[in-house]
Amino acid sequence: MICIREASNVLRSWRLSETTLYVTLEPCPMCAGAILQARVGTVVWGAPNKLLGADGSWIRLFPDGGDGNSSEHSDKTAPPVHPFHPNMTIRRGVLASDCADIMQQFFQLRRRKKEKQADPAAAPPRLHRISLHPSKLLTKMHRIFHIMFCL
Ligand SMILES: [Zn+2]
Repeated sequence: MICIREASNVLRSWRLSETTLYVTLEPCPMCAGAILQARVGTVVWGAPNKLLGADGSWIRLFPDGGDGNSSEHSDKTAPPVHPFHPNMTIRRGVLASDCADIMQQFFQLRRRKKEKQADPAAAPPRLHRISLHPSKLLTKMHRIFHIMFCL
């Protein structure tokens, strides 16, 4: 969503048909809806989103996309075609295991951060140590978000 908004601001248009969106994870229904509404020309996604994926893992909102994997879906029902955006290109599962690793690292980092916040007894002795590395943590977070949204 952030990436689509930024691209629209930069290109001064809501229509992003000449763009390619790279994402680590198969888009969820919300993002897939935004991608279709913004007419994003090409979507490249990495790891499948087994619980909430809107490109076939959970539900299917995208057309086949002409990535050569159409035979994979031939036994299932035909993919939907968006009335205003029927010809988007989709590349699925690009560097899937690397993308899955990035997602895993991101959530591990988030969980660890939450644990630190939830444990006030452990906070005072660590406070000094943490305060020495805020930039490191921020850099890491920035890098992860950069990879997630703007790769
Ligand atoms: Zn999403």
